[in-house]
Amino acid sequence: MIIYRSKITVRDLNVLISSSQYYILTLMLVHKAYRYELDPNNQQRTSLLQHAGIARFTYNWGLDQRIKLHKNNQGNDRFTDPMKQHKLLNRLKKTQFPWMYECSKCAPQESLRDLGRAFKNFRRGLKEGKKIGFPRFKSKGMHDSFRLYGIIRFEGRNLQLPRIGKIRIKERRRIYYKGRILSVTVRRRANRWFVSVNVEEDIADPKPIVSYAVGVDLGIKTLATLSDGITFVNPCALGSQIKKLRKLSKSLSRKKKGSRNREKAKLRLARMHLKFFNVRQDTLHKLTTYLAKSHSKIVIENLGVSGMMKNRRLARAISDVAMYEFRRQLEYKCQWYGSKLHVAKRTFPSSKRCSSCGHKKKELSLSEREYECEECGLKIDRDLNAALNLVTVSLPETLNARGEDVRRSKSSGFAMQISVKQEPKWTDGPSCPSSS
Ligand SMILES: [Zn+2]
Repeated sequence: MIIYRSKITVRDLNVLISSSQYYILTLMLVHKAYRYELDPNNQQRTSLLQHAGIARFTYNWGLDQRIKLHKNNQGNDRFTDPMKQHKLLNRLKKTQFPWMYECSKCAPQESLRDLGRAFKNFRRGLKEGKKIGFPRFKSKGMHDSFRLYGIIRFEGRNLQLPRIGKIRIKERRRIYYKGRILSVTVRRRANRWFVSVNVEEDIADPKPIVSYAVGVDLGIKTLATLSDGITFVNPCALGSQIKKLRKLSKSLSRKKKGSRNREKAKLRLARMHLKFFNVRQDTLHKLTTYLAKSHSKIVIENLGVSGMMKNRRLARAISDVAMYEFRRQLEYKCQWYGSKLHVAKRTFPSSKRCSSCGHKKKELSLSEREYECEECGLKIDRDLNAALNLVTVSLPETLNARGEDVRRSKSSGFAMQISVKQEPKWTDGPSCPSSS
């Protein structure tokens, strides 16, 4: 969420003057999240689990209550709201759930807010004809998490949380966050605890980047192919890793339910998934930062949801998640760094069109890695062809807007671009925080 403000303090002005040669009189208020791993002791671990348990219990209780209410009133009654539910819960707490007093009151309250949001999304889906599912009950140990607000501060390497106390953070840093802390979300993944510190920070409105526009095609083996010929290899798609993941999930499904061995297998699989997630997240952050910092405009394709549902292979599933995350990261990073994001229309035939003459193929199977044009005889890598097509989407608009240097390659330029196809190139560690 970004709010433009015109009120500026002396301190802000100093920041502005030092950060830019121009006086920009707008500041952006951005929300950021800094993620760290916690290092809780046994007592704290129990407390964290308790909080996550209460958050889950409240969510399920609230959902059950809403369903009952809806049934009893034959659907005439609007679903109740989180505030009403929280008041009711507070009344019931004394008699029915006294164990809730052991934890911070934020955990159940935020849980009910999440539930309210889930219902809002569901209703929005109904209105707009989108497939957004009815809120579901949460099961134990699946997505253990809770949110807290109130007095939260860093004291050296420790994070002070309400009710739970000081928890050590694994990472050693001089500065853990900038801005004002709004809330923290604590999550458990593969039996490790992580915290997302959500902050509100003023950043100077960035100068628009003067550079060229770039089209990006996302794939499985090659994570991203840029229209200027640069490619990024997907570190997750390596065959052996996918095989290992498949083996682990198979081994889990063979274990007897409720057995110790099943728990062990579950943890092993969760660890593998977490590793995948971390590698993917790291790669995506580097890629999106590189794109947003050094291009005036970035054109990406719009992802058809229905098309992706048809293909259920594991590698595909992994890349799908990456695609959504890729777009999400680009959206906020473009705002931070001053580049523009352009999403091509869903109907745009990025892979079937010839990037040189504009001829559109009727059929193009996924196995065809090379694009061959029947009209002009162009032979080109399939992903590069799509990326080149994407960059043309933005051309007229970009030229009209600021008359930037847009690299529009003529057909003769393509051969050159393919021959100089570069090895994956990474920018040096981006200084962006791990944002979510
Ligand atoms: Zn052609």
